Amino acid sequence: MTVNAANSELTVDRTALRAKYREERDKRIRPDGNAQYIEPIGKFAHLLEDPYVTPAPRDPMHDDVTVAIVGGGFGGLVTGAHLKLAGIDNVRIVEGGGDVGGAWYWNRYPGAMCDTAAMIYLPMLEETGHMPSQKYTMAPEIWEHAQRIATQFGLYDNALLSTEVTALRWDDANARWVVTTNRGDEFRARFVAMGTGPLHRPKLPGIPGLDAFAGPCFHTSRWDYDLTGGSPTTPMNKLAPLRVGIIGTGATAIQCIPPLARDARELFVFQRTPSSIDERNNHAIDPEWFATLEPGWQREWLFNFATLQTGGFADEDLVKDGWTDIAQRIRDRIVADVGESFDMAAIEGAFQDSDDEKMTEIRARVDAIVAEPATAAALKPWYQQLCKRPCFHDEYLQTFNRPNVHLVDTEGQGVERIDETGVWVGGAHYELDCLIFASGFEVGTNYRRRSGYETVGRDGVTLTERWADGLQTLHGLHVHGFPNLFIVGPSQGANLISNITSNLVESGRTIAAVVAYAGAVDADVVEVTEVAEADWVALLEGNPRAFMGNPDCTPGYYNNEGGPIGRRERLNVSGYPLGPVAFFEFIDAWRTSGDFEGLEFRVRPKPL
Ligand code: NDP
Repeated sequence: MTVNAANSELTVDRTALRAKYREERDKRIRPDGNAQYIEPIGKFAHLLEDPYVTPAPRDPMHDDVTVAIVGGGFGGLVTGAHLKLAGIDNVRIVEGGGDVGGAWYWNRYPGAMCDTAAMIYLPMLEETGHMPSQKYTMAPEIWEHAQRIATQFGLYDNALLSTEVTALRWDDANARWVVTTNRGDEFRARFVAMGTGPLHRPKLPGIPGLDAFAGPCFHTSRWDYDLTGGSPTTPMNKLAPLRVGIIGTGATAIQCIPPLARDARELFVFQRTPSSIDERNNHAIDPEWFATLEPGWQREWLFNFATLQTGGFADEDLVKDGWTDIAQRIRDRIVADVGESFDMAAIEGAFQDSDDEKMTEIRARVDAIVAEPATAAALKPWYQQLCKRPCFHDEYLQTFNRPNVHLVDTEGQGVERIDETGVWVGGAHYELDCLIFASGFEVGTNYRRRSGYETVGRDGVTLTERWADGLQTLHGLHVHGFPNLFIVGPSQGANLISNITSNLVESGRTIAAVVAYAGAVDADVVEVTEVAEADWVALLEGNPRAFMGNPDCTPGYYNNEGGPIGRRERLNVSGYPLGPVAFFEFIDAWRTSGDFEGLEFRVRPKPL
């Protein structure tokens, strides 16, 4: 196949390329799949501790609130903000971290930033009047924005910080959730919203000797600035004499490797699968231009991004990033090659051509930047772009031209073992003073393990049991048998993974509307009917556009680590069949119609 890209002419032998992709994938397939990872519990529990804040002593709470929100990340915050906007005041956030922010509280690693454009990623920009400083903002600014939302909407007032929920139990007789925590709290809530996020629990690679290393080690989501010196925005001045090792080359590692390379004496990067690294082209946002935006601009930008990112048409690409670029290429090729025929094979072919073109460019970019040919070869990703989280960075690849940086490519096998003084790969020992795990977060494991607590609904049924064969919800939010409970997340709703917060804002709006309506009709119990939930799940299962399930992909959390992809895995990541834009329109109409179709609002007889 010959591809005429906008600024390049690339020749791709599809058959050879697919053979190479399969060969690289096969190297990485492991029989243990998700079981290869270890939970940071027991002797690894210290790796989960909060390195940033020592919890202040306080008395346990035994009161009653209208809505308890589990998690103070953007999911919890935008839900809390919309509840407040709807006049529901007695809201309590319970958050394990010492402050709100969720992922942006925990992930303070150097170089942390969001590679989704701030104009759409940062929620409630118009409500808070905040102008992002750059197209892609750094983590400290994102965390500050989380604090801004909490302050503006009074969400700190009743919050329990440095507090982990240990269980949620539905008390049917009193129509209340009983919330227990690791700080001795046992309080009651009429409603609970769970904004615990999909990337909440760090995981560790199950490498033999994981606990053998005698030097300091930590996970990227618990950065040890006491050891490294510096801060997210200043150089890590204690690293100058140290040999640092980092395990992992995912979206997190590619951001923290450039500052580590700048500050450490030597940096050893242990790679199992290279990420695809496209250019980012960050730039400052011009205040004069920002001031010209009309009210309602953020909704327009969100709609524009979601439309283009999912293959739709718009007069202008407002966000202009890597996500909208690849989507428009695919769309334009489908239009050019397939026209209006809706021939699925031809559409699939156009999709493959666009992907091959993109990934060929990504590999050519490695050659153009990385000087040493063997290093460049090892940094090239051999898989389709959406097999793994696409990454965007303008300094990562350049880092491998530094003399103090060593790429230790494990040929897809991973680190062999760890001992007291360092790391073994392919029979060679790498002596280290400090070891960093950039090994990611629990995604495909069961619900109890990922959330860290159990939710017990009516008749003692747990959410883990209820979801043993995959998520079952109405709109991703409501679960039959779990009255007055809301799940805040993308799955089974819009499922727009390129901009997670837009899913969360919609959930927040919907939850606020449901809770306000329950108050207006004096309902004690709100529950999705069994039929409505089953119908929604059936609708999702009929989705021919289900994202997950490419068995040819290199293993990762997008495809159950290369393990079998059955109904459970598909349900966990499914979205509305007509796509995110259609879902946003659908859910807006659903919540504003006043019918709340599928939900039952039950008014209990009041005691005389
Ligand atoms: P990932 O799960 O993406 O990466 C984990 C890394 O550890 C992979 O490179 C993995 O290799 C490697 N690894 C695991 N086990 C071993 C082993 N035994 N030996 C060697 N290497 C090993 O986690 P991240 O924290 O990087 O990213 C998680 C998610 O967080 C991203 O997908 C993204 O959604 C989000 N994120 C978003 C950002 C943003 O800008 N919006 C920034 C950072 C993160 P392998 O690939 O072979 O499995």
